[in-house]
Amino acid sequence: MKLLATSLGILCILSYAPYIHAEVDGGRVNFSDHAFEKMIPLEICNCVAFRMDDIQNYWLLEPQLEVLETFREYNVPITIGVIGNDFEEDIVKYIRNVTNSENSNIEIANHSWAHEDFSLLDKDHQNQSIKNTNDRIFNMTGLLPKIFYPPFGVSNNSTLEVLRDHNFTIMSSTFASSPPPYPLVISGIHHFPATALTADYVAESKMFEGLPFNETLKDIQNSQEKFGFSVVALHPQEFAMIENGEYVDKVNQEQIQELALLIEEIQKSDLKTVFVSQINDNLIKNPEYLQTGSSNSVSSGVWMIWVVPAVAGIVGAGVYLVKFRARK
Ligand SMILES: [Zn+2]
Repeated sequence: MKLLATSLGILCILSYAPYIHAEVDGGRVNFSDHAFEKMIPLEICNCVAFRMDDIQNYWLLEPQLEVLETFREYNVPITIGVIGNDFEEDIVKYIRNVTNSENSNIEIANHSWAHEDFSLLDKDHQNQSIKNTNDRIFNMTGLLPKIFYPPFGVSNNSTLEVLRDHNFTIMSSTFASSPPPYPLVISGIHHFPATALTADYVAESKMFEGLPFNETLKDIQNSQEKFGFSVVALHPQEFAMIENGEYVDKVNQEQIQELALLIEEIQKSDLKTVFVSQINDNLIKNPEYLQTGSSNSVSSGVWMIWVVPAVAGIVGAGVYLVKFRARK
């Protein structure tokens, strides 16, 4: 009994797995345990992936086309999140034209059928939304997305199951819902959240406020230092004019100019520009940091749950055997 109690005591102490949370505060990343920052691998990827959400034909078409043209002029990869329900006509023509060309700089991600809140949908409805959007994109372009951008950056447990069923490999969401360390793999899906923005979303006015390029660049550099990669998120609204408090289908040239300056600065630096799908290829695999599991909390001591009982069991059995044999 004494032996059993001692083993259990040691087991309890050793298998304590500290949970570390990461939070975003004004775009900056804070960890509940600052020692944790040192654990994050630095020499990885060294790349920037641009991600543009809300690609569709019915709203703010001109700003979308202008942004895509800017990326085309600079020959920089961009991974666009398509809303399936309104993926038709002019936007499809433009995208098909680029993706059919030899040096396409467009990669397509699934951004749901009608911008539904996936945290509120059951598995069947999520499945329909993902499937219908993939079918539409495939019919229109011949390309089948393997990347999902959840609308509003939210999802639930069924989302990962649905993504797996449709052979998705990457989900790009918000930093809050996919905290580090990276590479972060949950249920076989890689998570690369947006780590930099080209505009601030102002909750009171429900409007995007475009940032000067050097602010975005600062966030990109911050993300590079901490994680070795960055995903920059853009929205069509940021590049549209506002008239009488409403977005109108006219290009905000000032913000296009900021985007051009941002791209030029990145091209001058040693950072690579890649598709969201290529962050994966460029990461140096480091099993020590490879996380699996279904929790958003990141545990650095999960392995102890398996190793400690096994060691305790072997030691306990050894001690018992020695004692038992000695007594005989
Ligand atoms: Zn969206």
